[in-house]
Amino acid sequence: MSSFTDAHCHLDFDSFAADREAVFERARDEGIGRFIVPGTRRSRLEAVLALKRFAGVSTCLGLHPYFLDEHDDEADLAVLEQALTSRSVVGLGECGVDARLDDLPRQWRLFDAQLKLARRLELPVVVHCVQLNDEVGKRLKQLALPARGLIHAFSGSLQQAQRFIELGYLLGIGGAVTHDRARKLKRVVAELPADSFVLETDAPDMAPQGVSGRNEPACMSRVIAEVARLRGVSRETLAATTSANAECLFRLEN
Ligand SMILES: [Zn+2]
Repeated sequence: MSSFTDAHCHLDFDSFAADREAVFERARDEGIGRFIVPGTRRSRLEAVLALKRFAGVSTCLGLHPYFLDEHDDEADLAVLEQALTSRSVVGLGECGVDARLDDLPRQWRLFDAQLKLARRLELPVVVHCVQLNDEVGKRLKQLALPARGLIHAFSGSLQQAQRFIELGYLLGIGGAVTHDRARKLKRVVAELPADSFVLETDAPDMAPQGVSGRNEPACMSRVIAEVARLRGVSRETLAATTSANAECLFRLEN
């Protein structure tokens, strides 16, 4: 029996400090046995890496555009490079650009520096991309990163999805697909090739429909049910294909 992989969850965040063990236990009860925890900022670097003491956890490190106020760009990039080369990680991220946030030129500079680092270190990249799919797709094509990456929390058209897939990137499908209003995304998810996507929660954010407050990996059961329904596949098939996709991208041992 295959287990599911939550390909993107921020389990280092303080909102899990009080009950982290229970969070992992509830996830396992729902058949989720693997967790990819991305980094967000320099001050959380050790907290992210420390999660590897939990079974099934793999980690990435990166500088997320939400935390521009906290980043000291040049210094933090140097620390990031040092950590990526000396510590055990499976990817670079979370990094990216978000049209809803301020200072897009600075976001792009920071993102670009991390993409080039991922290219140099041959690491897969975990991309946060909001309302900039065409621009990001163009940049990823230019840079041709050898280990490619994950477009986490993908939201966009089928055409934009196909462009990322053609470049060899996986799409992350999470809580957004469970919402009744997400008609376009539901259509895209129904059409995606089986080897092109992974499942994720983005916990503690991006709660699925019916979950109020904190999101956690166990809530991925709602994403699993909806994606299986949309694609007309069994839970078992979905577990096998999406976990294999995550294993392949992040070079996890199975
Ligand atoms: Zn995230």
